[in-house]
Amino acid sequence: MGMSPHAGHNEPSGTSPRAVQTGVTPVTEDGSRDAKPPPSFLCENLEPESHLERLLLEARRCRICAAHLPLPPRPILRATASARLLIVGQAPGRRVHETGIPWNDPSGDRLRAWLGLTKEVFYNEARIAIIPTGLCYPGKGDRGDLPPRSECAPTWHPRLREALRHLELILLVGAHAQAYYLGNARKRTLAETVRNYREYLPGMVPLPHPSPRNQQWFKLNPWLEAEVLPEVRKLVWRLLGL
Ligand code: SF4
Repeated sequence: MGMSPHAGHNEPSGTSPRAVQTGVTPVTEDGSRDAKPPPSFLCENLEPESHLERLLLEARRCRICAAHLPLPPRPILRATASARLLIVGQAPGRRVHETGIPWNDPSGDRLRAWLGLTKEVFYNEARIAIIPTGLCYPGKGDRGDLPPRSECAPTWHPRLREALRHLELILLVGAHAQAYYLGNARKRTLAETVRNYREYLPGMVPLPHPSPRNQQWFKLNPWLEAEVLPEVRKLVWRLLGL
């Protein structure tokens, strides 16, 4: 059995989305629910697209955990209501934070190669939404970037997912996305979870994080390239009509 990418990271402590209701109030640092949710710009009668646009605006203005971030918050996410595929990664790295473009780094290059997608298709928001587990750069630790802030996913993912009404497939890229979305449905290791990806269909597909830091893991688990990625590519291409 291969080692798990990001095995040294703490897993997000947010509630599994299976238990999270939409409109969830933010989780404070001590794990309790804040009685006062942040001001919302949402209006119940908005059309789906403008509902999502306002929610994106609200998310982009989020400052909930600003005191714990090394740089001013810069939530990086993109979506339109027509998207059928959602990519959930870890959290922006420094380069992504600076450019504001998700997956604009070697990890993104590998992910696009895995999926057989050009940048043009990958960044077409009408088809693909990109929302990481943590929306802002969390800073660096001893072993690479810190985990996504635990407040983030429970605050934003349920509401954003509800607004993405045409979603058919979510790619869970890396251990943090899988911890949040799969919870106890994960296997003992990330390798086992990914290798059994069919169990999470039709709605979700777990993948390892494509970071260059995981090069050794890729070598130890050649079945990923040989068995899993060709099938995932077919799923994604079919969904996107390629
Ligand atoms: S990481 Fe998430 S919760 Fe924290 S400020 Fe950014 S968007 Fe808000």
